[in-house]
Amino acid sequence: MNDILTELTELLRKLPGIGPRQARRLALWLVRQDKQWVQEFATALTGARSSVSVCSYCKRLHPEGGAHMLCSVCRSDARNSHLLMLVEKDVDLENIEKTGAYSGRYFVLGGTTSPLDKEPDRKVRIRELQQLLTEKGSPVEEIIFALSATTEGEDTVLYLEGALKNVVKDNDIKLTKLGRGLSTGTELEYVDRDTMSYALKGRA
Ligand SMILES: [Zn+2]
Repeated sequence: MNDILTELTELLRKLPGIGPRQARRLALWLVRQDKQWVQEFATALTGARSSVSVCSYCKRLHPEGGAHMLCSVCRSDARNSHLLMLVEKDVDLENIEKTGAYSGRYFVLGGTTSPLDKEPDRKVRIRELQQLLTEKGSPVEEIIFALSATTEGEDTVLYLEGALKNVVKDNDIKLTKLGRGLSTGTELEYVDRDTMSYALKGRA
């Protein structure tokens, strides 16, 4: 009994933001729940995992499983493939999509980095991004940084500018940032269509 609980605790520790004590508490809570609920939970979890895959272009998760390598945005012909917007996480992409103000493509960085990080390439998908930009026939002409206007966001932009320097130069790519419409501290989570259009128009 105890070994199984320890095993469950160890598994739960892998969840983001969960420490050993919280993991233990969660494990104890889970085993007290109704058996049917636990079954539904486990089924939903494995079902979600097997029907979601990572888009081979933008790296977001998309719920179409093995049916498509690319997500619906990346395989649409209606998108402007010359524009590539860099966002931190999937939810930022979803929020910007909801505004309907942007018609280019995206790349999800997966996180932010700071000058103290020894291995920034573990926080940000820089290698995948470089690969995408150096691919033969890559249509990207402009990269738009759409990171939060926070210290982490700005540090990440600085890191990316450095890491992409050669790729950008060799391929004549323009780097821009969203304009002032998305000003200090505004998270992309709360962006609306007007603000996004304004920020896109004011990019520099
Ligand atoms: Zn995609």
